[in-house]
Amino acid sequence: MSLLSIREVRKSFGSNVVLDRFSLEVEAGECVVLIGASGSGKSTLLRCVNLLETVDDGVIELDGYDITDPRVDADGVRSGIGIVFQAYNLFPHLTVLDNVTLAPIRVHGVPRDVARTRGLEMLDRVGLAAKATARPDELSGGQQQRAAIARALVNSPKLMLLDEVTSALDPELVGEVLDLLRELKTDGMTMLLCTHEMAFARDVADQVCFLDNGRLLESGPPSQVLENPTEPRTQEFLRRIR
Ligand code: ADP
Ligand code: MG
Repeated sequence: MSLLSIREVRKSFGSNVVLDRFSLEVEAGECVVLIGASGSGKSTLLRCVNLLETVDDGVIELDGYDITDPRVDADGVRSGIGIVFQAYNLFPHLTVLDNVTLAPIRVHGVPRDVARTRGLEMLDRVGLAAKATARPDELSGGQQQRAAIARALVNSPKLMLLDEVTSALDPELVGEVLDLLRELKTDGMTMLLCTHEMAFARDVADQVCFLDNGRLLESGPPSQVLENPTEPRTQEFLRRIR
């Protein structure tokens, strides 16, 4: 059984069909990379998985559990999923550690001392133990993004969703964040992410999925989709971004 099973999902905004019978299986421990032009539906797909959007049709199962069922406990589902966006969205007035422990304490009722211990472990995990009491604006962009990743890891999620997490970074800071994602993959974390970092996709992805106008046009191992794409639109997309 897949950890994440997306079957025939449709999503429209008004008359704009953004996901069109989209299906994807993600196995536990896999890193699946979504690629495609701006507007092809990558972010919407991640948002549907995290229940930030409701699907119009189709099913999404996480660990065998239908999370698109309207009776689902959305907060419970979200607590099993870590999500990180392009903009780190750290609270500027809180320390780095307080950013990491806010949701466990406020949303999940974790005792403060337990949350702090766990938060410090996660900051250590992302190489930021020394910055626990700093404010976000005292950190570089790469450090802020690593803090956002620590925040997403603090609940021990089954799945991490990462939406262009290096796109807002200065080029010299991209590597440290990608290195962290490689380490998470090595640790066995299941990841579904979109990125324009094709070298990363080639090295780390188990599957690469090319989205075109909300449809999964081509998917497979990076050696196939990135090196020998069969669909003309995939070929054209890869030519344009290289
Ligand atoms: P990508 O992440 O691949 O750039 P998105 O998922 O952000 O693509 O967007 C896909 C399409 O959905 C775009 O046409 C976008 O304008 C539209 N869209 C996304 N979110 C909304 C929304 N909340 N309301 C209306 N249209 C939206
Ligand atoms: Mg997007």
